[in-house]
Amino acid sequence: MVSMVTPVLLLLREPAGSPGFDRLDPGQPVASAFDLGITRGDGIFETITVIDGIPQALDAHLARFSRSAALLELPEPHQAAWREAVFAAIDAHDETIEAFVKLIYTRGIEGADSPTGWVSMLPSADFTAQRTDGIAVVLLDRGYHSTIAQTSPWLLQGAKTLSYAINRAAAREANRRGADDVIFVSTDGLLLEGPSSTVVLKLDGRIVTPETTLGILPGTTQESIFEIARVNGYPTAYERLTPDDLARADAAWLVSSVRNAAPIRAVDGQARAVDAELTESINSGLAARTQ
Ligand code: PLP
Repeated sequence: MVSMVTPVLLLLREPAGSPGFDRLDPGQPVASAFDLGITRGDGIFETITVIDGIPQALDAHLARFSRSAALLELPEPHQAAWREAVFAAIDAHDETIEAFVKLIYTRGIEGADSPTGWVSMLPSADFTAQRTDGIAVVLLDRGYHSTIAQTSPWLLQGAKTLSYAINRAAAREANRRGADDVIFVSTDGLLLEGPSSTVVLKLDGRIVTPETTLGILPGTTQESIFEIARVNGYPTAYERLTPDDLARADAAWLVSSVRNAAPIRAVDGQARAVDAELTESINSGLAARTQ
């Protein structure tokens, strides 16, 4: 990656214990070759956008971090230590308008019974084109029924785990089909989420998103968008949505930290309407968050 801005890397000394971290040279290794986060993808992460030095939706990210840890039966992360590390990374970083902080928390070295944790910070890529021109998506079968989280909790659907190889493969499949991104659909025909984003629709005058009980990650960006929408007079709702709802929606977005709201301009090769004005108001609302 070519960047004029210095990346920052902090290693937490006791990620589940008392606060304390060391600043490392970004080129230095943070984890052992035997760390279960590396050998098994056994760990969790969060990606937090930082705009003008403010970590966006930090409380929601930290709450989800703890929730993911609980789902994986990892020791409860020490919230104060992680929060302090986020601000230390921001303080140590060269000024940049948009950047992101990543929290990584793994089960640690096999047999050591001691988790590993680190925080890094990098400038964000430029997502202006996706935010304004929009993205083409394909619908891909996730191969799971929408009741997966209730019937098979060991599949960890809805936890933000380090096992993202499938999510990356789905994105490559979208690229092969000439699209930019994916919306997963359950075997019983419900819209779920993107490989790294939440689906949001403007449908019948409301702003809606799939129910979080469907084995999907509860999105922090979607939560902020619901707050912005309510301030602007839109009712909001969590619903069971189908590809037909996506087709008839007035507008649709994939939303996530860092990229924010990317309007969907085509689904499976079929062009669909983009609401440029509402997209702009959502993205300015996201960029103006003070916490
Ligand atoms: N769903 C999945 C599977 C994700 O990986 C992400 C983010 O990476 C999201 C949804 C969106 O979450 P957030 O808005 O908190 O970034």
